[in-house]
Amino acid sequence: MKKVYLVFLVILIVTVGGVYLLISLITRTNPKNNNQAQPVNSNSQAVQNTADNNQVSVNQPVNQAVSPFQPPLTKSGERITKKPFGIYITPQNSPVQPEKFQGYHTGADFEIFPDELTADVAVKAVCSGVLKVKEYASGYGGVAVETCQLDNEQITVIYGHLKLASIQYKAGDSINVGDQLGLLGADKSVETDGERKHLHLGFHKGSAINLLGYVNTQAGLADWIDPCLYICHD
Ligand SMILES: [Zn+2]
Repeated sequence: MKKVYLVFLVILIVTVGGVYLLISLITRTNPKNNNQAQPVNSNSQAVQNTADNNQVSVNQPVNQAVSPFQPPLTKSGERITKKPFGIYITPQNSPVQPEKFQGYHTGADFEIFPDELTADVAVKAVCSGVLKVKEYASGYGGVAVETCQLDNEQITVIYGHLKLASIQYKAGDSINVGDQLGLLGADKSVETDGERKHLHLGFHKGSAINLLGYVNTQAGLADWIDPCLYICHD
C-alpha cells in the first residue's frame, strides 16, 4: 500500500509540476507576444507617419507650384496659337500680318476666340501680388505690371494690351490671384496700340520693371520665364 501511495504522490508531483511549467511557459510566451506586437504596431505606425509625411511634403510643393498661379483666361492653354514664349518673330515670318516687331518673344500671347472679338474679356490676376505699373506704353497700349513670388523668387508679371480704364486697382494695391484685373483692350485700338485683341503675358525675373516684348538674342530670354510652365493647365 505504501508503494501505491508513493507512486500516486510521484504522479501528483509530476502532474502539478507539469501544470506549473505549462502555466509559466504560457505567461512567458504572452508577454513575448505583446512585446513583439508592440514594436510591430509602432513600426507600422512609423511607416504610416512617414508615408503621411511624404504625402504632405510631396503635396506641398505641388500646391505651391500650382495654386499661387492661375490662368488669366478660360481655356488658356488653347489660346496660344500664334506667339508662344521664345518664338523668333520677323515681319516676314510672323503669324500676325502686318507685323511691326522683330526678335525673340519674351512672353506668351493668348488669343481670343471668334465670339470674343467685341465682347468684354476679363483678365484675371495670375498670382497674388502688388500692382506696380498701370500705364500706356508703346507696343502695348494699356499695360499692367504686378510683382509676385514664383518658387520663392521675385518676378514681375506683364499684362499687355489691356483696357486701362477697366483696371480698378492703382499702383501699390494688392491683388489676389484669380481676381479680375481688367478687360482686354478693344481690337486694333489705342488700348492695344493698334494690335489685334489678345493678351501678352510676360514673366520677368527680379523686381525691376522691364516692358520689353521682344529681345534681340536668344541669350536675352534667360531673364524671362515661359508663363505656360505655370498657367496653361486649363
Ligand atoms: Zn506678345
